[in-house]
Amino acid sequence: MSDMRVRFAPSPTGYLHIGGARTALFNYLLAQQAGGTFILRIEDTDVERSTQESVDAILAAMEWLGLDYDEGPYYQSERFDLYREKIQYLLECGKAYKCYCTEEELSQKREAAIEQGSKPQYDGTCRNLEAQRPGQPYVVRFKSTREGTTAFDDLIKGNISFNNSELDDMIIQRTDGTPTYNFVVVVDDAEMGLTHVVRGDDHVNNTPRQIQIYEALGYSVPQFAHVPMILGDDKKRLSKRHGATSVMAYRDMGYLPEAMVNYLVRLGWSHGDEEIFSKHELIEKFSLQNVGRSAGVFNPDKLLWLNEHYIKSGDPQRLGQLLLEYLERDGVVTAEGPDAAEVVKTLQDRSKTMLEMAQKAAFYYEDELEYDEKAVAKFITAEQAPIFSALKEALEQTTFDAEGIEQAFKQVLEQTGLKFGKVGQPARVALSGGTSAPGIYEVALVLGQDRCIARLNKAIAMCS
Ligand code: GLU
Repeated sequence: MSDMRVRFAPSPTGYLHIGGARTALFNYLLAQQAGGTFILRIEDTDVERSTQESVDAILAAMEWLGLDYDEGPYYQSERFDLYREKIQYLLECGKAYKCYCTEEELSQKREAAIEQGSKPQYDGTCRNLEAQRPGQPYVVRFKSTREGTTAFDDLIKGNISFNNSELDDMIIQRTDGTPTYNFVVVVDDAEMGLTHVVRGDDHVNNTPRQIQIYEALGYSVPQFAHVPMILGDDKKRLSKRHGATSVMAYRDMGYLPEAMVNYLVRLGWSHGDEEIFSKHELIEKFSLQNVGRSAGVFNPDKLLWLNEHYIKSGDPQRLGQLLLEYLERDGVVTAEGPDAAEVVKTLQDRSKTMLEMAQKAAFYYEDELEYDEKAVAKFITAEQAPIFSALKEALEQTTFDAEGIEQAFKQVLEQTGLKFGKVGQPARVALSGGTSAPGIYEVALVLGQDRCIARLNKAIAMCS
């Protein structure tokens, strides 16, 4: 094990979105690569906005993507005693203070500060107010350093420096006694021994405030890496307007987790012009040095392309398991149908998503075939009845394997003197309900003898 300790620290106020999943993935890859530790920490100090449903959704998405963590999940809501202790310490050593100001007083201070071209100072009057306003709820503010600069070397963005005069005294404890994000994130990152904080660059502006808290509490400061945000194709921040942003919505749409992982990593990271990476390769090749400084643009077509790739090259057994889940979700009863891995083999080359595959596979399982009306009108007519009868007879008598099925069809062609299309296409409609199924021999083989005969009987009945 190396000393590297990284974390993913989502706030459970919604599903796991594309940006969060990418942050989690980057952290996971770094830890795996270094033989370090990947921690999951649920940042649920905002009691009003955090929900169990969201925690469950985040955990499910992490599991689906295979982002296994070594420690956690830790819940900040279970660590309030620790935060209280640290706030008490800052109060005692004068690095934080209780602020009793009313909203009105605060806005006056803000206005006065704007006039002077500086940030408001809340300290001073607040202390006096404590005695004057006993029993009144107060917030605790961190007394920030006003002189000089706070700088850090970001592993992605390079050196970033802030003028301390830009920082006001932020609230670290709300009136209800709960601590705030910028404070607890420091306590936890320090107490959990994190060596690297890799997160979205929406947190860059929080970093100088956090560094001051590290210093006030006597902690050493970790290395920071801020990952550029993800934009939609209109170069605006990725949002629902651009389609689904929830990772699990993509599972529901028939995407494979390996396609999603491969896609996410390329939203910001590159390795030459390579596009396809297994998780194993990513663990080997990923590095923060190759994460770009500019925003990644979400491209659904590329995700679809990757998904198609992974479906084509996927293991039929595994895809078969997934296929059954999608079919059942669509209400198709699969218990007595053909072997799913065999079904997958006939559809892997023709499906971009598992959902599409499930739609195409339904005919294999349906007891009552859904027929395409146009195909029926054209191919299941009185004229075709003798073809179906001949085919049925031949399929009944043949050894029902790939070779035997082909033989049966050839025999019918000889008997009737027809070209292949004249037999194959009606047979396809009879066996699959439409004209777009995979090769007829494959379909027959996967369906099995009994189902083929039953479906030909049905077609014969429909002809009259
Ligand atoms: N909980 C924060 C968020 O969801 C992330 C905190 C961090 O990574 O520092 O945005």
